[in-house]
Order: sequence, then C-alpha cells, then structure tokens
Amino acid sequence: MKPLQKILIVGGGTAGWIAASILAKQLQKADGTPSSVQIELVESEEIGTIGVGESTIPPFLEMLKNLDINEQEFIKYTQASFKLGIQFTDWRVKGESYFHPFGTISAGMKEYTFYQMWLKSFHQGDNFALQDFSPCNVMAQNGRFYLPQLADRTAIGEARYALHLDAKLVAEYLRKYAEARGVVRTEGKVMEVVQRDDGGIAKVILRSGQEIAADFFIDCSGFHALLIEKTLGASYCDWTHYLPCDRAVAVQTENTGDTTPYTRATARDHGWTWRIPLQRRTGNGYVYSSQFCSDDEAVNTLLNVVDGKTLIEPRVIPFKTGVRNEIWKKNCLAIGLASGFIEPLESTAIHLVVRGVIHFMRNFPDQDCDQALIHQYNRRMTMEYEEIRDFIVLHYCLTEREDTPFWRWCKNMELPPSLQEVIDYFKVQGGLPEMIDALFHPVSWRSVCEGMGLRPQKYSPVVDEMNYPVMRKGMLEYRDAMAEFVKKLPTHDQFIRDNCSAY
Ligand code: FAD
Repeated sequence: MKPLQKILIVGGGTAGWIAASILAKQLQKADGTPSSVQIELVESEEIGTIGVGESTIPPFLEMLKNLDINEQEFIKYTQASFKLGIQFTDWRVKGESYFHPFGTISAGMKEYTFYQMWLKSFHQGDNFALQDFSPCNVMAQNGRFYLPQLADRTAIGEARYALHLDAKLVAEYLRKYAEARGVVRTEGKVMEVVQRDDGGIAKVILRSGQEIAADFFIDCSGFHALLIEKTLGASYCDWTHYLPCDRAVAVQTENTGDTTPYTRATARDHGWTWRIPLQRRTGNGYVYSSQFCSDDEAVNTLLNVVDGKTLIEPRVIPFKTGVRNEIWKKNCLAIGLASGFIEPLESTAIHLVVRGVIHFMRNFPDQDCDQALIHQYNRRMTMEYEEIRDFIVLHYCLTEREDTPFWRWCKNMELPPSLQEVIDYFKVQGGLPEMIDALFHPVSWRSVCEGMGLRPQKYSPVVDEMNYPVMRKGMLEYRDAMAEFVKKLPTHDQFIRDNCSAY
C-alpha cells in the first residue's frame, strides 16, 4: 500500500467546498482528529465562482446530516427557503401548469398500487387530479410548509423537501466547516500545471510563484476545467443535440409578496426561466438556446418577466450540456462543472457534486490509482448523468407547442434510445424500468408524464383482482383529509419566521 499523502482541490465554488467538507469528515480519524491525508484547497478570488446554483433536491439535506451540520443553523446562514418541488408553466401548451413534487403519491397505499388504482378510476370515468394526492403539491399550492419528520403518521408524513439557498453563502459556510476540520485554504491563481513522467499531475504553480505538489488532484475549477481538460486533455461528450439550451442569463431581484415553497420553471419562446425565492432576495434566470435567441433578446425577456427590482446587472453564462468522457483520469478527478453539466431544470448539479465525492470515497485509491477503480467510477458517474439527461429531455420532448422554432424543434427531436424505451414501456400500462440507485423515482416520471399529457393507455389487470370500490373510497377520503389538514399548517413565510429566520 502506498496511501495518498496529500490531495489538492483546485477551485472553491460549491463543488470545491463540498468535496473538501465530505473528504475532511469521512477521512477524519476515529477520535475526531483530522485525517493523515492532508487536504489543501486553492481558489482565486480574482476569478470568483459561478455564483448560481441555488435550488436543490432532497438528498442535499442527507448530505448536511452526514456532515453533522445543524439544518436550522445552515438555513439561517444561507438565507434558505424550503422547496417542495417545481411548478412547470406553459410546457405542454401555453396557459397550463403542472407540479413535480418531492415525496410520495400513495394515499396510504403502496405507490404502484395507488397509481394503478388511480389509472383505473380514470378508465372508469373519474377525473381525479393525480397531484391532489401529493402532500408536497397540496402544501405548495396552498403556500404552506411544515417539516414532514415532525408530522409523522399524518397526511404530510410522506412529504419531502429541499432548500433554495444562496450559493455564495453555502461555499462560505462549508469553507468554515472544512477549515475547522483541517483543510488548508490557499488564495491564488493557478498559472501552470506540471505533469509527471507518466502523464499524471505533479504540482500546480500559482502566480505568486508558490508551488503546490500533491499525489492526487481534484479539479473543481468549474467550466475552466483547468486540470482535467486543459492539462490532461479529457474529452467531452456533447449532448447539445438532445438539449439545445447552451446559455443562461441570471439576475437577482428584491422579494415581492410571499415566498413560494417551490421553484418555478416557466417555458419561454426559446427556453425557460427559473424563479428561486430566498429569504432576502429572489434568484431568476433564463436558460435559452443560442441557435434560436440572441443574448440581448434573452436579457430583455428575463427583465420583462421578473417581479421585483433588480439588485445586480444581468450576467450571461455560456455552457455546453454533456459529460466528460473520463471524469477521473490518472491522478485527477473532476467534480462539479469541470466534470459536466446538464441544464438546471431539475436542480441536479449540486447533487452530482455530492455523488461524485461519494463514489470517489467508495473507490478511494492509493498512489497507484488502479485503472479498475477509475473505470468503475467513470462508468457509474456516466450512468448518473445519463439518467438525469433522459429525465430532463422528457420535459421537452412531450411538448405540444409549435409556436416557435425552438418548441417545434423540441417536439420533433430525436430521443436518446434509453428514454424512448422508458416512454414506450410507460405508455402501455404505466410501468417504469427498475434502475439501480435511481435519483428520479417513479413518482417523478409519472408526475412529469401526467403534466405533459402522457397517460398510459391501460391500467394493470392486477388491480381488477383488488377491492376497487373500497380502495377508491379510501383514496378519496385520504385526499380530502389531506386538503383539510394542510389548511391548518403555517404558511411558508410564517414557518420560516418562527423557526429559521435569517433576520
Ligand atoms: P465554480 O463555482 O465556477 O467554481 C470554480 C472555482 O474554481 C472558483 O473558486 C474559481 O475561483 C476556481 N478557479 C478557476 N480557475 C482557477 C485558477 N486558474 N486558479 C485558482 N482557482 C481557479 N446547480 C444546482 O444544483 N441547482 C441549480 O439550481 C443550479 N442552477 C444553475 C444555473 C446555471 C445557469 C448554471 C450554469 C449552473 C447551475 N447549477 C445549479 C450548477 C451549480 O452552479 C454548480 O454545479 C455548482 O455551483 C458548482 O460549481 P463549481 O464549484 O464546479 O464551479
């Protein structure tokens, strides 16, 4: 064994500090003292961070828990608000909205049985809205919030939530966390990367002349991809032919009215806009395709649709959807934007950062960086990227809009074969292929399919063997009881004021 002595992380955005925090926590000794593997992070204030990335999904809270971070304290520090899902407006046709909730939709039954019962009810002539059975959706539509873990055994006990947060404050918080656990931070701009004879990385040289050597490097330099691409030449698998949006313009605005406990994703002529409410301000952006829309038009569109007064100048961010063919190459691992990017429609990038570090821990190398570890890591992470890609494409390809060239393109696009297979299977009687460790569970696929107007042609004959009238009655009682229960919960703003206000 030749254990790693030192890991150098290049970049201190969300990715860099998440990687530093997880490594510092997981590698610490049993008595809580810092790991014998030295961890250093170099970042450049002059370059700065991307500064967007403010909507998360529920596994983010698991990460906080695994780091022993107090959720309430974290929420106050990052001025976070709660997120119960995403409201999609104008995606299938203009004038229509649907909700993709977290948590289950089960009306107290097994999820699959409920969905099949619900399908049967539709085929028998009922028209119950699927989302009326989702605790997250019902809370969101009523602007209410309560922690499901404190309401176990109630109608909202199966809800889940995530956070909207300020990306800069997250990096700041995690920096303190990691530094307190022995991570050394160095300020400076990397000007040169020196390679070893075997092609791996030996050291980086900062503008100050300081040299930092390590035996393993984590490239968290964002879209710069300083080590993985510019030094090691790892190529990029471009998915623009599936997801043509390649730019975003972002702007922050003052809050107006109540903060919604959900992200809004509204389809526009050449892409979609996001609206992410935090405690003290709102994050907004327009994700669009440069094939169909100029930067000036995108900026104007965004400024016309935001609610409050703008707090900063709009900023255009170009990106390329895809994933690096080798996320881990030799003694260098890319995490975050350096490893790949899929547009933020389902807020998955920070999640991929965490997954990137988790899989690294599972394949933690010694100085040899065995190729078998590297191969399995790259295979697994590519699968995670592909799963997310397919789920995002689903939101576009089912559109019925033909009012702009962008939407006509989406309606007629060629699908990834893996997604086509899911759609073909679902259409028959609502089945979904079983996947290992999938991020998006059947509730997510069903919610988006239903919202986009794709309903299975039949239901599973198995439900004909069940006591349909009794189960149908139970479903409706559950729905009505939940609606009543939710009305008694605090509003989202009230819940924040009472429990985790940043003020
Ligand atoms: P960055 O934030 O760009 O950090 C790069 C770091 O590298 C910085 O510290 C920089 O100083 C440093 N660096 C670069 N070059 C050098 C050098 N030469 N020397 C020293 N240091 C250097 N994710 C979500 O989960 N939810 C969202 O809602 C979401 N929305 C997004 C919207 C948009 C438009 C975009 C583009 C991304 C979004 N993301 C979202 C993704 C999210 O922002 C990123 O995954 C996350 O912030 C991680 O970024 P990063 O740390 O990899 O890169």
